[in-house]
Amino acid sequence: MTKQVPLYIQGEFVAGEGDLIDVTNPANNQVIAQVASASNAQMQAAIANAKEAFQTWKETPVSERARLMMRYQALLKEHHDELAEILAQETGKTFEDAKGDVWRGIEVVEHAANIPSLMMGETVENVAREIDTYSYIQPLGVCAGITPFNFPAMIPLWMFPMAIACGNTFILKPSEQDPLTPMRLTELFEQAGAPKGVLQVVHGTKEQVDVLLTHEDIKAVSFVGSVPVGQYIYETGTRHMKRVQSFAGAKNHMVIMPDADKQQVINNLVGASVGAAGQRCMAISVAVFVGQAQEWIPELKEALAKVRPGIWNDKGASYGPVISPKAKERICNLIQQGVDAGAELLLDGRDCVVSESPEGNWVGPTLFTKVTPEMPIYQEEIFGPVLSCVEAASLEDAIALINASPFGNGTSIFTSSGGAARKFQHDIEVGQVGINIPIPVPLPFFSFTGWKGSFYGDQHAYGKQAVRFYTETKTITARWFSAEAATGPNFSIQMK
Ligand code: NAD
Repeated sequence: MTKQVPLYIQGEFVAGEGDLIDVTNPANNQVIAQVASASNAQMQAAIANAKEAFQTWKETPVSERARLMMRYQALLKEHHDELAEILAQETGKTFEDAKGDVWRGIEVVEHAANIPSLMMGETVENVAREIDTYSYIQPLGVCAGITPFNFPAMIPLWMFPMAIACGNTFILKPSEQDPLTPMRLTELFEQAGAPKGVLQVVHGTKEQVDVLLTHEDIKAVSFVGSVPVGQYIYETGTRHMKRVQSFAGAKNHMVIMPDADKQQVINNLVGASVGAAGQRCMAISVAVFVGQAQEWIPELKEALAKVRPGIWNDKGASYGPVISPKAKERICNLIQQGVDAGAELLLDGRDCVVSESPEGNWVGPTLFTKVTPEMPIYQEEIFGPVLSCVEAASLEDAIALINASPFGNGTSIFTSSGGAARKFQHDIEVGQVGINIPIPVPLPFFSFTGWKGSFYGDQHAYGKQAVRFYTETKTITARWFSAEAATGPNFSIQMK
């Protein structure tokens, strides 16, 4: 019998009462599990129980909340390989890359274990004569998270550990395409000693998300996924008076200056463009060659041609299949649109065959040159192992090109010039910048700071910004009367 993926409501793993959705292994498209969506009654029960659990969880001392995260971190590390194996089978990622996905999440749990110092407020003594002002940071209530398929460990772990460490309760709606990893994360959270009701997991798609976006007891919504859904989540959630942080799609450029180290450029570009089959929101999908750096494109082609995808435990494989036949079809259509628009296709990954698993959603490394900004392959996030090369006459032109993009998630420059790097980091309108680093994802003591069409909201994921997002500040102004005689009433604002 096919394994059923349960919901986690009121501290119990229960069967979903809604529609069944198949979970497949993208390397052969066989069904490995079925996930049943939550019914409306189950959604309501999860929210009501999370609201009730908040009353006790918010009173739990902050050091106890931190210790829960310490125990959770230790359990995640103990189960690192097991989690990576589950993750690799439902996403198709190679084992090493799957371990990286889990590891990036573990680092956020480590950060959440620092919650006592992150929740310190501010104090000023004597703001007026014998009056002190101080602020506390308090949790919001029930928060919700909606996550994408491409990082089924890291992205749920961006959200619920931070929210829960802050004293909130949390409802997670993972991607229906790979729910097995988030469920194992949930089991381990329970094993770490999380009280019942603090975390709930519901499954489904738009119908279940709409309940979270419109329910008055949900105070904040975190979302990571595609652009149209990200916009919908932001608009709908804020219209229902919720705090929303919505991380969306991207088109990340890497600028290659002629003074860069050629071999470093080629190695980094290959890994950053086709790693994880290009299904990373920080993948490099556009290489901007400045001036004579264009002469390196034939060597880039040679290096990319040696890369091959394969099944998760094939140690020689550099990446796995794309998530679904639909995703492959979309990528192949976009490749054709690139050809039709006049871009030069140097490597075509559409007919890629992996003999040990021929039924998988394979796309080989694909390389275009002569790409221009009006082409669909330049404008759309392809989310596949496809790299587009564009040419720029100068650093200024490269910066202008990137600043004209509606996206602003990540970018990088490869150069040996401090002046060029300084100019780039200052002038570029992108939220995460790498200097001789292709994928500059900040570690969790900073925040994940995408800009423009890659992010809707103001407070970003993890770091201090996540604590701001999941809390409210209460500012107290206090006076304790001395033994001196009381003065009469005051009718105007005091100025000293
Ligand atoms: P997606 O938007 O299809 O799905 C994301 C989540 O939204 C899933 O849980 C899904 O069930 C839900 N959903 C889907 N359609 C919905 C609808 N109409 N209404 C409400 N909810 C809906 O995204 P995906 O394909 O799973 O993930 C890939 C995308 O995520 C890419 O665009 C990638 O760039 C983006 N992403 C962004 C970041 C970032 O930090 N900016 C990180 C990772 C992924």
